[in-house]
Amino acid sequence: MRTPRLLSLLFIFGVALATQAAELPLVALFTTGGTIQSKGAHRLTLSEYNDGRVTPDELLSDLPELKDLARLEVVEISNVGSGNIDTAKLLKLSKSITAALARPEVAGAVVTHGTGTLEETAFFLHLTVKSAKPVVVVGAMRPFTAISRDGPFNLYNAIRVAATPGAAGKGALVVLNDTIHSARFVTKGHTYHVETFVSRELGPLGFVDSDRVVFYRDILTKHTAASEFDISKLEELPQVDVVYGYQEASPAPVHALVEAGVKGIVFADSAPAFAKAILAAQAKGVVVVQSDRKGAGRVTLSDRSAARGAITADNLNAQKARVLLRLALTKTTETRELQRIFNEY
Ligand code: ASP
Repeated sequence: MRTPRLLSLLFIFGVALATQAAELPLVALFTTGGTIQSKGAHRLTLSEYNDGRVTPDELLSDLPELKDLARLEVVEISNVGSGNIDTAKLLKLSKSITAALARPEVAGAVVTHGTGTLEETAFFLHLTVKSAKPVVVVGAMRPFTAISRDGPFNLYNAIRVAATPGAAGKGALVVLNDTIHSARFVTKGHTYHVETFVSRELGPLGFVDSDRVVFYRDILTKHTAASEFDISKLEELPQVDVVYGYQEASPAPVHALVEAGVKGIVFADSAPAFAKAILAAQAKGVVVVQSDRKGAGRVTLSDRSAARGAITADNLNAQKARVLLRLALTKTTETRELQRIFNEY
């Protein structure tokens, strides 16, 4: 009699465990590469770590704790440094996230990414994913092989945030170093410190604390489900480049870009020699947007500049203004309409 009873107890226990696992939130994880997946020659290699990259499976095998946190569905988009994330990968990533989040059983999405251009991808997702569910972009400053690597805990925290219902409706979020930033305001602020991501003017949205995920703020600019940008049928985006302003800057890059056929140029600050080149670019139909190199503050628009057809990037840095301008140009080339878009997003 004892053995069947034990078996049935084990069976009930097994069913209970399986039910518990099934009740864990389902998070869609998209991997793209970057330092979080990079390997170095030894544990003290904290730069120039060029010894290949771990697979998504290897990345996750480092985090047995996930079995009590969430169920994961893993999609490998790429395994490259973030400088090699191109339009094809961005479109594939955004479309895949929208498709995953449209399934009722998926609670949220996490993207692992190199930190170099992470803010660009995060802002692109912020503007294009058609869902109110949480989208969290995460990376690491130390490679997978380093002592005290930050990747595993960053990833664990990103999955926690993606599985948190309170993280919904805030657009794409960036989670590193226990801190939750909005993709709209975050930028990489240090070349190698673990605390690199900052939201300079407005601060982070919240924190991933040991007991719970805490939000203190929301954002008011348009994003995700409320965004007007529809990439579902797009295979490419207009070419837009950035030109940096400084003392004695040459207009040559502006002429060269116009010659190369770009559709838009974002200026990170101005320079006297740009003035004529900008007029020539605009005469050829190239849209010009004024951003700034200072890292905080809006580029204000006077009535005189507006009358001259100037477009300003609000307080978006140049690399993010470029992301928005590429999407805006899929809808319009009209100056006032483009300025409305920069004011609203
Ligand atoms: N080179 C890396 C990248 O952006 C840096 C990082 O991931 O932190 O892909």
